[in-house]
Formats: sequence, C-alpha cells, structure tokens
Amino acid sequence: MIFAELGLIPELLQAVADAGYTEPTPIQQQAIPVILGGLDVMGGAQTGTGKTAGFTLPLLQRLARHANTSASPARHPVRALILAPTRELAMQVFESVTGYGRHLDLRAACIYGGVDMNAQMQELRRGVEIVIATPGRLLDHVQQKTIHFQQVEVLVLDEADRMLDMGFIPDIRRILEMLPANRQSLLFSATFSEEIRKLADRMLKNPKLIEVARRNTVSETITHVVHPVSAGMKRNLLAHLLRHQPDMQVLVFVDTKIGCGRLAHFLERNGISADAIHGDKSQQQRTETLEAFKGGRLRVLVATDVAARGLDIDELPCVINFELPHTAEDYVHRIGRTGRAGHKGRAVSLVSPEEKHWLSEIQKLIKLEIPREAVPGFDPETVSPEMDASERGHSHARRGGDARAGREGGGKGARRERIPKAAPSPMIAADGFDFSKPYEPSASLAPQEEKLPTRAAPTPPVKPQRPLAALLGGLGKK
Ligand code: AMP
Repeated sequence: MIFAELGLIPELLQAVADAGYTEPTPIQQQAIPVILGGLDVMGGAQTGTGKTAGFTLPLLQRLARHANTSASPARHPVRALILAPTRELAMQVFESVTGYGRHLDLRAACIYGGVDMNAQMQELRRGVEIVIATPGRLLDHVQQKTIHFQQVEVLVLDEADRMLDMGFIPDIRRILEMLPANRQSLLFSATFSEEIRKLADRMLKNPKLIEVARRNTVSETITHVVHPVSAGMKRNLLAHLLRHQPDMQVLVFVDTKIGCGRLAHFLERNGISADAIHGDKSQQQRTETLEAFKGGRLRVLVATDVAARGLDIDELPCVINFELPHTAEDYVHRIGRTGRAGHKGRAVSLVSPEEKHWLSEIQKLIKLEIPREAVPGFDPETVSPEMDASERGHSHARRGGDARAGREGGGKGARRERIPKAAPSPMIAADGFDFSKPYEPSASLAPQEEKLPTRAAPTPPVKPQRPLAALLGGLGKK
C-alpha cells in the first residue's frame, strides 16, 4: 500500500514524502481512513509503530479544510487538543505536527510544565489551531484564562496508560468536562486496564477499535541478550562494551535519578561521551541533552524510565539495561526505543545474580528466553569471589568519590578513578582476559548493517493474543 491510497491531500502526501516514508505502517493503514471518516478511535498501539503520524495526518487534513492566513488571533481558535503524559512526548508530537503540517497554514503550540508560562501565554494569545499539552500545565492555562476550548473539534489522548501511571486521570477528567460534546476523540494506549476502559467509555462515542500489536510483545526486529555480571562490575562491563563498539549510539537505562547522573559521570571520566536525563534536571537541560543525543553529538544517553518515556530517536541501534526494570512491562517500553519502524535493534541487559527474579518475569511476559552470554572477565560464575569483592570495594570507594564530586562540584577523589583501557588490570589478567585484544562481539552484539529495504518497512502485524474488543467488554458495540 502507498500513502496516496489513504485519501490524504497533496500537502500531506508531500510532507510524508519529505520525511522519507514510502509506505504507511499497519496502524497508519488502519487508522488514517477511519479518522478521516470522522469516527472516534480506541487505538492499541505502542510507540514505534508510527501511531503519531497515524493520528496527526488525518487530524491535519480535517483542520486544513478551514485553515486561513489571517493574522487575527480570533481566526485561529484552538481546534485540536493533543494530550501527552510527558514533556518529551509532547515535544515529539509537536515536532510531528509541525513536520507533517509544513505545507499547511495551521499553527501549533506545545505547552508543558517546568518552564515559564509567559512565553506560552503569548503564543496562545496569538492564536493556534493545535495545542499539544501535558495535562497539569494545560489546566494552569485554563485557570489563567489564556486558553479556551469552545472551538475544539478533535481531542487526542496519547499514551493513556502512562497518563494513568503518572496520576493524570483526574486532570484529564476535568479537561474532558470543559470540551464541546460534539467532537471527534481518539485514545491511544499500549495497554488496557479497567481504568483505561472506564476513561474510554466516558471520552469516546462508538469508537472504532484498532489494534496493531499484541500487548506487551516486543518488535521482532530486536535481538535480546543478557550479560551476567555482579552488581559491582556492571559499570566496568558497560564501559568495556561501549569501548568495543565505538561508533554505536546507546540509550542506557538505570533505576534511580542519582544512579543516572553517577553513571554518566563515570563514563565521561573514562572518555566516553555521555550525559544523563532524569526528572531532577531542568527542562532546558533535558531538551539540550536530548537534542545533542538526537543530533548524534552525544554518544551515550543515560536515562530513567520516566525521562525516557516516548523518546523517539530515528534508528537508535541499541538499548542497554544497566539495571533490569522491576516491572516487566517497563522492559517492553524501554527496548521499544530501538528496533523502530522495521529497523534492526539490540536490547542488552546487564544482569546481576540478585536480579534473576526480574529476568524471569520479563521472559515470561515477552514469552522469550533471552540468550545469556558471559563476557570473559565479567561473568560472576568465573570471576573469583575475592576478585569480585575487591572490585566491589573499589566500586564503593568510587561511589563515595562520586558523591563528593556531586557535593563539591567534581572532587579529586572521583577523578582519580579509571577503568582499564588497553592495558589489562591485574584482576582481569588473572582471569586470562586481555583488554588489549579487540573485543569479539557475539552474534547479537555484532554491528548489524543489514537494513530492511525501505526506511519504513512496516513492523509485521502481530496477531492479537486476545482481541481488544474482548478486553474492552463490548465498548465498540455501543
Ligand atoms: P511513533 O510510533 O509515532 O513514535 O513513530 C516511530 C517512528 O517511526 C518515528 O521516528 C517516525 O518518524 C517513524 N515513522 C512513522 N511513520 C513512518 C512510515 N510510514 N515510514 C517510515 N517511518 C515512519
């Protein structure tokens, strides 16, 4: 199928061609005609499926009918509202809206918290047809009377399950009460709980159910691997892996904000370009870091789950779980950053003996036994306990050093620490592993040049385990 068969106007077909897309993804094939037909949609789709274009393209087409070039703010009322759970996701959706709408006379604004409200107020006062917002900040603007919803024709709720996790449902209910009843509504979620079903019931009228991938399944283009390692050796192993794949951009997941900053510092001190992104950083810092990573100027981005939610980086080749997530679903979300839109991806997990339980939960959920590949010199079963204990000792000392570095703006203690480069450390030499030799990556770590024929070969549709309609208890039959 080609985009022209979906009934899109030439301005949008041009924008899609500008983006380099040759074929609509499965969710686009299903959702675009339905949304163009004016129906409400309940979409079961994860990030990476192309769902953003799936709802943005028909939304733009609807608004384009009454687009105008007038300078008067009154001629540009808010006609579409897109709600997203995080600033990063809101910004990404905004970029899609402005990218796909580049040949149309429509204005868009991105409204999120953590930054001064004044610039957003001015933008809203100038008049915008499309507002992409996080719920809390949107309500701040409602209170300030800088935004009005009387003319809203379309509402999109993106990543509803994450909205729920983040406690936004009461805010969304308040927003729903302010919107005109006569509107088109679209709800997207990767998973469907009872709460989401209730929300959908309240928000959607006779929705068309569209599901493109089984819940909690992972893209078939991703290769998974587990490297067993003791907790104290993890960062050395990470640096080792990164050093032996010098051209590869990697997103590394850690569990805590503090661990996030420390790990990025450690990598930087060892000559690997890295930065951290987590909730305690200012919006400006987060935006800059993200831009540097997306632009390829930053090689390693260390992130927590919340900060990385919805992160969309074209052709990101590899995600590394420095620590396993404690919820198996988060594994699916994390590794969904790679292997997108038909590209190959790698999901590497560094797993300590204490994390075995989480690993088995993940394997159960994704119905896959992840191959276990010991990296010589790092496998806790072959590294002698004394050596590992001594490394843990160093690692604790280093952690102390890092903490000092944090308080004192980079103390000397922290900077003295170095992991072995070319010369083997006594510990590793004792185990017979020579760092001066090039690392021989396993099949799943080897760079995978092979690409699918087009930039956007669609992810093969996966048969749903249980139909979405069954999960939703007849919602679509209203
Ligand atoms: P999403 O699931 O909306 O986050 O999109 C995932 C990625 O797929 C984004 O980087 C899009 O730019 C890309 N994408 C969306 N639609 C297509 C398409 N039809 N062909 C190629 N890439 C696409």
